[in-house]
Order: sequence, then structure tokens, then C-alpha cells
Amino acid sequence: MGLSPKGVQLLLEGGRALGLDLEAHLSPFSRLYDLLMEANRRTNLTALRTEEEVVVKHFLDSLTLLTLPLFEGAIRVLDLGTGAGFPGLPLKIVRPELEITLLDATKKKVAFVAQVVEALGLKGAYPLWGRAEELAHLPEHREAYGRVVARAVAPLCVLVELGLPFVSLGGYMVAQKGPRVTEEVAPLPKALVLLGGGPLSVHTLVLPLVQEERNLVVMAKEAPTPARYPRRPGVPEKNPLC
Ligand code: SAH
Repeated sequence: MGLSPKGVQLLLEGGRALGLDLEAHLSPFSRLYDLLMEANRRTNLTALRTEEEVVVKHFLDSLTLLTLPLFEGAIRVLDLGTGAGFPGLPLKIVRPELEITLLDATKKKVAFVAQVVEALGLKGAYPLWGRAEELAHLPEHREAYGRVVARAVAPLCVLVELGLPFVSLGGYMVAQKGPRVTEEVAPLPKALVLLGGGPLSVHTLVLPLVQEERNLVVMAKEAPTPARYPRRPGVPEKNPLC
């Protein structure tokens, strides 16, 4: 089983377009693909079903983060709302020196991620079950990550309240967004100033093979986040800071 020759070719070609040589990582990606397909047969873990969709929209889309010079070395990374492990698992496969915590509020998803970590023998990858609003107040997680990444979790004005409290001073949060991000970014400085955020930049790129626009919204952490953030579970979503 595993990825078909066509799937392998898509992954290698897409990787090259992102400036990555994925040849040495084919086997873990192939195994991850099998585990995803197997889990999807039993439960509705992810909406993506075809091999091409998984390779492009899960694997390669996750790896677009590596077009930024922010993921070199033994940095602690939090993948907030990782779901079935995206972008965290592909990131960990390609950059094994990263220490990645994979957080999700859904137990079933965290159980799947834990299964993958075990099956792939990933060291320095930590599945974590809970809500960001609660975990961000615990000393072992607060301002404890050099990078926080998140894909498809919440609108930016909600996401920054969930994510920035986890980022250490001098670190960065990176939100992976689709096309047309200008409107969502415009009110963001108002929330960033409340949360200890600093300068904001948007990096636009094209997802290989399908030629769709993607935006990486990068936010610096400059000052400690006041203890009142994040507010109680559900409040950031109901009453966003911007
Ligand atoms: N990042 C993955 C999953 C996106 S779905 C991907 O791109 O494929 C969004 C995920 O965020 C869901 O699994 C949901 O459980 C999780 N999530 C949403 N709000 C959360 C919160 N406040 N704390 C922790 N996880 C959260």
C-alpha cells in the first residue's frame, strides 16, 4: 500500500516547487497517507479523500510554512488546532529537529495523531488534548513556544487570542490562510496591541500543482500577554478582540 507512484511524483514535484527535497521523507509520508485513509474508513477524520487531495492539500499545503525562514533548529512549535495533524506532522517529518506539540480540542483527533506519532516513531512530537483557552493559562504552556502555527482553525481576530499567549517573547505566530486575506488582516493590529503582538507581515504564495493562492500571516510577539487573555472557552469566538 502507501502512496502510488503518481502520489510520490506529486509529492516530489510539489516539494521541489516549494524548494524542498522530499526524497528522504517518502516513507513516513506514505505511512501517514495509509493511516489517514484507514482512519477515514472508520470515522470522518478529514474531508479530503483522494490521494491527490491529501498530497496537495494536506502534505504540501502544510509544508508551505517551510518557505519562511522560521523553522530551522530545535525550536518548540505549537500546532494549535492540529486536527488530524496538519500542519504539524508534515513539518515534523521534514524538520525532525523541531519539537512539536500537536494540540486539539477533539479527543478522537488527538488519538489519531498519537497513533501516527507512535507508528512513525517520531521523537519530540507531543499530542495534546484540550482547549487553547485553558491550556494557555498553564505555566508549562504559557509563552513557552518559539512558534505557534495554525491552519483553518478560526478567523484571525479569534485565532490571535488563542495563539499569541503561547508564544514566547521574540517568537512568532504563523496563521495559514487561503486567498483574499486583506480584509481579515485589516482590523488585526487592534487585537495584537492588546495581546503583546508586534509587527505583522503577510507572505503570499501559490500552492504547487493546483496553483491556488495561500497567505502566511506572520505575527511577532513583543511583550507579555496580559493574564486575562485568552478569555474563557468560547468567549474569543463569541466576542472577538477585533
Ligand atoms: N489544522 C487542521 C484542522 C483544522 S479543523 C487542518 O488544517 O487540517 C480545526 C481544528 O481546530 C478542529 O480539529 C478543532 O477541534 C480545533 N480547535 C478549534 N478551536 C480550538 C480550541 N479553542 N482549542 C483547541 N483546538 C481547537
